[in-house]
Formats: sequence, structure tokens, C-alpha cells
Amino acid sequence: MPGNALQAALDKALRNLLRVREHAPDRRVEVALLLIRLHGLDEFSVRAGGAASELLAAEFLDRVRGAMREQDEVISIEPRTCAVILKGIRNREHVKLAVSKLERACGATVELLDDRLTMRTTTGVAITSPKHATASALFRSAAEGMKQAHKRNMSHGYGDRTRDEPAIDKDRIARQISDGLNAGEFEMYFQPKVSAAYRNIIGAESLIRWHHSEQRVVGPNEFIPIAEAFGHIGELTFFAMKTSIAQAARWPGELTIAINIPPSVLKQRDLAVSLGDMLSIHNLPAERVTIEITESELMADPDAAKAAIVRMREIGVRFALDDFGTGYSSLAYLQELPIDELKIDRAFVARLQDDDAVIRSVLGLARNFGLKVVAEGVETDAQAKHLRELGCDYLQGYLFGRPAPPVEFRGLLEKRVR
Ligand code: C2E
Ligand code: CA
Ligand code: CA
Repeated sequence: MPGNALQAALDKALRNLLRVREHAPDRRVEVALLLIRLHGLDEFSVRAGGAASELLAAEFLDRVRGAMREQDEVISIEPRTCAVILKGIRNREHVKLAVSKLERACGATVELLDDRLTMRTTTGVAITSPKHATASALFRSAAEGMKQAHKRNMSHGYGDRTRDEPAIDKDRIARQISDGLNAGEFEMYFQPKVSAAYRNIIGAESLIRWHHSEQRVVGPNEFIPIAEAFGHIGELTFFAMKTSIAQAARWPGELTIAINIPPSVLKQRDLAVSLGDMLSIHNLPAERVTIEITESELMADPDAAKAAIVRMREIGVRFALDDFGTGYSSLAYLQELPIDELKIDRAFVARLQDDDAVIRSVLGLARNFGLKVVAEGVETDAQAKHLRELGCDYLQGYLFGRPAPPVEFRGLLEKRVR
């Protein structure tokens, strides 16, 4: 729980809540906590200077204050994060209303010195329940809501959702992952990456799919987190690496393959050896392999991740920072990381038409550090043109091809290469 001010204010609000409940036991009253984070302050500071970024942080706080009712309390935690305590909440709709009001206020264009920009924020929401009301639980829940929002590319998320949703049987799924691997239910799909200038295919990213025996095809967002939690992520990643390398070795020319590897696996000491073996078995040059690691996961333990990257680079593979822009890595830290490529998260590509400031600043950053930039989630021709004009090197998205099984991907290569 950061900040005594927040702790004290929450404690007070919760004490009042208990008092109100005592007096009116049959009326439902709750307190909600919103944690709001402003994105892109670092980048903006690089582009426009420290003074301008202070103005932006102040404007952010003003807008949050302006959107809230008099009885709500706004507490600044640090320049890019603030908390709001909503009191006398009757139901969830009440909170939803507050969040949408807040997002409208923050979303309006800011005119600052010579700059026009749109603020981007993420809000984590937590609401007390009739039985449950402690400051630290509320804070954890709001932080969890923010994390979920990031994961799902949403502007806000509720940290207490799990209580309303039917529990998924994670144990069962974890067992099925192991069985599924043995039964050959997993398959790697491949999605083309093209050059922004000529739109020729320069490689692919491999994305895992589960042809579940009882159900439809299950997407990785549903099972990767469970695999991580239950210790199956190593097996799955080995499968992904082996299959991806075997496929890439069959492709013509210099096509590259990008493989997603979570830090927990990257940290394994013998991974470099295993990867080296796989490359030599299939006779694939290491420079044709890019390992994608997500910015937010990397930032969870930056030093360990950096050490692992340094180790892996010795065999000659390249590194890309995935979902870039969502993980709050500091500029100083980025400078130290031995990586080759930034992959701009598709949330920014989706907003391109209204606001290209984030992508512009990422490209400026990348140029400074000599990194290539990939934009993901490119769905329209207009987006592709815009990204090329801004100076992106590579593009990936449904416009150029959906993730496809190996045979289909090779068909696409034949069509596009000949
Ligand atoms: P990611 O690495 O960011 O992968 C890109 C995701 O965006 C893929 O979702 C892809 O299908 C989707 N996508 C691509 N183009 C477009 C587009 O134009 N529009 C939209 N709306 N979506 C697009 P997918 O395959 O469901 O994978 C989700 C996430 O699961 C991946 O995000 C990655 O973090 C993880 N994942 C996938 N395969 C693996 C794997 O083999 N190992 C590990 N550790 N994680 C994986
Ligand atoms: Ca990826
Ligand atoms: Ca990504």
C-alpha cells in the first residue's frame, strides 16, 4: 500500500462505512477505490521537456478532481498515479458511472504549450462487499483490476470480479495441458510479419493453439496463465520452440521466426544449450530467431531478465520487447537492455487515427537506441500507410494474414514470394 495519506483516508472512509451500516443495516452502502494511472509521461517528458510533463501531470490531477463529486476524495500518489475514494456507493452501476465520467474527462484533448495530445489512462477499480472491508484488501484488489485491464487492453478493470464469476477448474485444466501435450493436441500457428515499405513477408510469429479434445480451439490467453501457475509452462515453451524452429527451417530464403518465451522459462540456465541444440539439429542460423518477451513481464524482475537475455544472446538470437508501451519501463532501463526490436502494442495501433503521439515517441526512442520497430494488430490499409509514414519498420496484423496452421502459412509464402 503506497502512501500514508491513502492509507489514512481509506481507513477513515471504511470506519465511516461501518458506522453507516450499523445505523441502516438493510440499506446497501459501499466504498469504492479507483487507482488511476496516466501513461506516457516519461515519453512526453523526453519529447516536450520536464516542465511540460509537470504541467501534464497537474492537468491530469485537475481533471480527475473535476470529474468527481464533492464527497469523493482524490489523493495523489505520484505524478502519474492517483487514487479516488468513492463514498456512499449503492451499487456497481454507480461506480461504472464514475469511471466513465472520469475517462471522458481525461480523454478530452489537452492543449499544452505548443502540443496537442490525448491523455491515456488505466483505472483499476475495487468495491467493498457487505462482509469485506479492509484498506489493504481494497488496495490489492484495485491494483489487480489495473493489471487485468492491461492484460485485456481495456481502459479499466475490476479487481473483485472473481467473486461474481463461476470459478474455473484450474487444476483440471492444468492436468489436461500435460495430457494434451502427450496426445498432440497443441499446434503452432504462424502469422506473417511484413516490411512496412514493400509489404513483402519477412518472417512470422509463432502463436500456440490448443485443439482441446472436449471443446473448440482454446486460445493461449486462457491456458498460458494456468500453465505458468501450475508448472507446465516449461513443457509448453519447449514444444513451441521445437516446432517453430522445425517449421522455419523449411521456409525459403532468409525468413525469420519470432517465438514467445516468458521470463520464467528464459531464466532457466540450460535454455541456451537446448535452443542451440534445436537450431543445429534443424540447421537454422540463430540470427533468424527472435525471442519475444513482454515488457510488463520483463519489468517484474528486470535484473534477472537482463541477465538471461545477455546469456541467450551469446548463441546469436535476437530479442524483441513485446506489447511495448504497456509496461512502464523507464527510458534509462531500456537503454541498458541488449535488445533489437520494439513491438508496439496493438492498443496503440487501434487508436492511431485519433492519436499517434505514443507511436511517434516510441519511434523517436527506437531511433535513438538503434532499435527496429514492429507495429502489431494492423487491421486496415489506412493504419498500414500511416505506420509506414511514421517510420515503422515492420507490420503484423490481420490485414496481412491471421495466424494460420503451418501448411496454410507455407501456402501463403508460395503465393506471396513467387
Ligand atoms: P502476443 O504475443 O501479443 O500475440 C499477438 C496476439 O494478437 C495474438 O493473439 C494474435 O492472434 C493477435 N493478433 C494478431 N494480429 C491481430 C490483429 O490484426 N487484430 C487483433 N485484434 N489481434 C491480432 P493470440 O494468438 O491469441 O495470443 C495471445 C497471447 O498469448 C500472445 O500475445 C502471447 O502473449 C501469448 N502466446 C501465444 N503463443 C504463445 C507461445 O507459444 N508461448 C507463450 N509463452 N505465449 C504465447
Ligand atoms: Ca508476441
Ligand atoms: Ca504483442
